[in-house]
Amino acid sequence: MQCPRCGNEDPKYFYQDGEQIYCRKCIQFGRVNITDVIQPKPYKCRKHRVKAHLNFELTDAQKRASVRLKENALGGIDSLVYACCGAGKTEICFETITAFLNAGKKVGFAIPRRQVVLEICERLRKAYPRLKVIAVCQGHTEVDDGDLIVCTMHQLYRYHHTFDLLILDEVDAFPYKDNEMLEAIAMNACKGVKVLLSATPSRQLLRKAESGKLSMIELFTRPHGHPLIVPQCFILPHYFQLIHLLWFMKKYGGQWLVFVPAIAMSDAYGKWLSVFMPCASFTSKTICKEEVLRRFKEHQLTVLFTSTILERGVTFKGVHVAVLQSAHPVFDEASLIQIVGRVGRDPKEPKGFALLYADRKNHAMKRCIYALQKMNESLFDLHECTG
Ligand SMILES: [Zn+2]
Repeated sequence: MQCPRCGNEDPKYFYQDGEQIYCRKCIQFGRVNITDVIQPKPYKCRKHRVKAHLNFELTDAQKRASVRLKENALGGIDSLVYACCGAGKTEICFETITAFLNAGKKVGFAIPRRQVVLEICERLRKAYPRLKVIAVCQGHTEVDDGDLIVCTMHQLYRYHHTFDLLILDEVDAFPYKDNEMLEAIAMNACKGVKVLLSATPSRQLLRKAESGKLSMIELFTRPHGHPLIVPQCFILPHYFQLIHLLWFMKKYGGQWLVFVPAIAMSDAYGKWLSVFMPCASFTSKTICKEEVLRRFKEHQLTVLFTSTILERGVTFKGVHVAVLQSAHPVFDEASLIQIVGRVGRDPKEPKGFALLYADRKNHAMKRCIYALQKMNESLFDLHECTG
């Protein structure tokens, strides 16, 4: 027995209702009986004649990645784009998207988090002003067809066997990561070529690329060409970490994002420090999220305490980051790389501080430092090759 939608074969998820057996693993998307044949919906497809409008030019490294991605996709080969934070992953997909749209093929762009769907949709609308680019996510589901569809991974269940090109961004992020059901639904939404994007791919995905099931395209340089920031570690007892950080902030100044392992801790520190300096806390429980982010972006706040909610997808110009209790299990290797990746994204301020405070250096911290050093070494090799 296998569910035709999510591929589940585990008997504990199958329920009998009279004559019919249905799958409960993917029941949130509506009931599917195992004898059902899911028919693809007749989504519209037309040949376009478009070009992506960018208000900047791709760097040579981005161009090379972009050309390879297009060659792979047109040759029917799936790709994994392994690019560092701030490398411009989305932009290097534009040529491939354009080629598929102009050939009259259906293109989808899926991302785990809703907030990022809206952001990417805006960027694609600017790049393709003549096309109907639609966002499909919670709160935006009335229209589900357009020339170019940007959606959350959860919404892919609507597009069974629909996409000739499906780009899956942030494949290492919650809730897509390690979620077999969402992965099966994503695979079923694609009838053609898949492009996976990640700054921190899982080992499983890297193994898939090594075994040749995916073609890997690496891009470890940011458009400004400066090396990635490698974090500094301070091994101190818990109670001393914040004191040291305050001393460091006072000495070097600047604006700081401080990651802590728990929401209550973020709120408590934010409240306490706001007596001394402009400071706030930002967590999944914060009520006026947009307002706090706006104040931080406008430099009305010097310090923002936060949980892992801000580890990805956000860009603050010229920000420094610190992680307190970074050996806590909530911070794995990928989340530390993402956190450090917030620093030095702006071409005007390519440098900055990334500090990891812990009572001991754990495996995740070591792996994070090693990965960033490796990426910088490959940048060094590249400079040597190109003279
Ligand atoms: Zn199912």
